[in-house]
Amino acid sequence: MTNLPQSLSFQLLFDTAAEAMLLVDAKGVVTLANPSAQQLFGYSSAEICGLTVESLMPERHRQHHHHLHAGYLEKPEKRAMGSGKALSALTKDGSEIVVDIGLSPMHADGKLFSLVTFYSTDRRRDAEESFKISEERLHLAKQAADLAVFDFDSNQNVLHWDEKMRELWGAETNEAITYKRFVTSIHPEDRAARQAALDTAIDPKGNGEYHAEYWVIHPNNQLERWVSAVGKMHFEDGVATRLVGVAWDVTERKMLEIKLQEQRAETESISQQMVAAHTASAIAHELNQPLAAISAYSEVALHALNAGTHYPDNLKRALEGCVEQAQRAGASLHELLAFLQKGDLVTERFDLNEAVKEALNIARGSGYGEFHPILQLEQAVPKVMGNRIQVQKILVNLLRNAIEAMRGSNLKSSAITIQVGTNLTTNMAHVTVQDNGPGLDAETAKRIFDPFFTTKLTGIGMGLAISRALIEANGGQLWLDPSTQVGATFHFTLPFAL
Ligand code: ADP
Repeated sequence: MTNLPQSLSFQLLFDTAAEAMLLVDAKGVVTLANPSAQQLFGYSSAEICGLTVESLMPERHRQHHHHLHAGYLEKPEKRAMGSGKALSALTKDGSEIVVDIGLSPMHADGKLFSLVTFYSTDRRRDAEESFKISEERLHLAKQAADLAVFDFDSNQNVLHWDEKMRELWGAETNEAITYKRFVTSIHPEDRAARQAALDTAIDPKGNGEYHAEYWVIHPNNQLERWVSAVGKMHFEDGVATRLVGVAWDVTERKMLEIKLQEQRAETESISQQMVAAHTASAIAHELNQPLAAISAYSEVALHALNAGTHYPDNLKRALEGCVEQAQRAGASLHELLAFLQKGDLVTERFDLNEAVKEALNIARGSGYGEFHPILQLEQAVPKVMGNRIQVQKILVNLLRNAIEAMRGSNLKSSAITIQVGTNLTTNMAHVTVQDNGPGLDAETAKRIFDPFFTTKLTGIGMGLAISRALIEANGGQLWLDPSTQVGATFHFTLPFAL
């Protein structure tokens, strides 16, 4: 036998033991308690010694223990109390602790003692309990989110699927699941992308995260499900060994995405058609008037030729009118296309009063009809910045509308007042075009800037819509005066040149 140091006594072993230990006599009275026991029960040595073991257990167990103790005394042998079941002990402050208890009979000086050892099971219990709770939570979460769980151990080549995963893959409950079965169910077009996701997860330099989305084709009914899967790769010594993850059905979302995409494509084509229709209308609007004028001039010329009346001046004027209108039509078209293509706006400093006079000349020469212009021009109005031809076009359109409105209402004098001045609120040039025609009712007034809105038999309804867009492109505003009593009044502003 090994020579143990003499100082290594029972008392020393008893006192240093990590487990709580009590030495109890045959009557069940505590004669010694080691420091671990004192700590576990919350008594000092003096307090606990002399107490019966029954006083260290909850009252409800005492009677039963009394019987057991009697049996033990008849046949004292080493054993675990409670047949492996956890027992309760009572601490000084009255709280109960769960313990495993071991009993070891000892004989000394002809007397029977028992060494009672307490193994606290609380911590194990707690861990088990919280594990159970977290498992339950996980299960609930899994159910709530309709998640399927997979676990692939590449070391053992074992693939584990839960019921939901089988459902997603259309597998029978008793069907053996192999990696091959898993891969062949993935749509051939998606296999490469899934493999790439796996390769990323396998890479030991990466973070082991796995994310893939693919179509799964059910073997029997060819039903397709769109599945999204995320997982985490586990590594051993830098080698990927196990992929654990969850998968879920995203078919509905995918279908919705596809539908939205189709709708988007459809809307795009509709809006392209609308742009085309707008462009065509705008072009027609630009060409209508010059073509009508050319036609009228040509008729005059033809008439003169047919009648054999040789008035070369008239003929010349008619042909010059044709040339001028054709050139205007060309220039307008050019401008319009440039505007519709949203190219850079060519701007210049120009005199607004001059632009108004030019527009009046164009209106006069266009054959819109007779009118009497009243000019109220602020002489020293500063130069404006914008596209001169576009501003002229807007002015001509306003004049034309005014002339046509007045023509329809058989007025004696068709006066159009044109004011040019400074808008003190915005510090911009301000132009007002006012006629003494029938004006507009509230309903019409609301719609006149809408494309294609017209009240004229041969109108296109693009003039004001284009004019407003042009003025805004030039940095100004165009609006109808709502407070006009007689006729219609339109205003527009333009920025001054710096
Ligand atoms: P269009 O001249 O082809 O009809 P516009 O966009 O230039 O297109 O004008 C739209 C409508 O606004 C006209 O049809 C007319 O009803 C109304 N409108 C425009 N200017 C006047 C005006 N000065 N007086 C009365 N109505 C007008």
